[in-house]
Amino acid sequence: MRIDFITVLPDIVSPVLQTGMMKRAVDKGLCEYSVYDLHDFSQLKTQHIDDTPYGGGAGMVLSPDPLFRCIEHCKSLHTYDEIIFLTPDGEQLTQTLANTLSLSKNLLLISGRYKGIDQRVRDTFVTKEISIGDYVLTGGELPSLIVADAIIRLIPGVISDSESSLSDSFQDNLLDAPYYTKPATYRDMEVPSVLLSGNHKLIEEWKFQQSLGKTKLRRPDLLEKK
Ligand code: SAM
Repeated sequence: MRIDFITVLPDIVSPVLQTGMMKRAVDKGLCEYSVYDLHDFSQLKTQHIDDTPYGGGAGMVLSPDPLFRCIEHCKSLHTYDEIIFLTPDGEQLTQTLANTLSLSKNLLLISGRYKGIDQRVRDTFVTKEISIGDYVLTGGELPSLIVADAIIRLIPGVISDSESSLSDSFQDNLLDAPYYTKPATYRDMEVPSVLLSGNHKLIEEWKFQQSLGKTKLRRPDLLEKK
């Protein structure tokens, strides 16, 4: 899979891609990234990439020209399954959406800044708009990394225990069960005895009941979907 990022602040994005799971995916030959600095596509001597909004109002807007040039450049190199703009008014990121996107070959993620990007960019190129939640951040860089992380960890072989990402919260509309590790007794607190029993059937049943109980309590809306 290839994921390309367009941003005015590559220094936020690039270091994360060179660390941990994101880097491992590259080392294993399972993922490739390119990070494009929008300033490189400005035709102005000053390399400005933003301007004041028509109709007035506070804040700046990312101008169409550098974004058009940058996206056209990316499209000349790759065919994208989706060109995604990160935006609070987009479709909310869910595990189901991450699962679907993880089947893509090439994705292009566009980060906004300031008040956002010129609407003509959205109308011309963007095929999907994603929000990471009902709150507003300063830029799309962290949301784009969140989307990328949620997708890349689902690519078979990226995380070592391939079962592990499938048993996480939301995969079956249930929250995950609690986890314990050694020692069995820590400061007088015991690990539930069933987990030490070696009886896999009983352990699975216990995990399922724990998941169900937690989901009923914290996210009853998920059970309606189930
Ligand atoms: N004026 C925009 C609005 O009210 O919808 C908010 C602009 S925000 C300050 C700047 C950029 O941050 C956005 O263009 C978007 O790329 C990114 N952003 C902020 N919050 C986000 C969220 N919850 N999900 C995805 N992207 C977000």
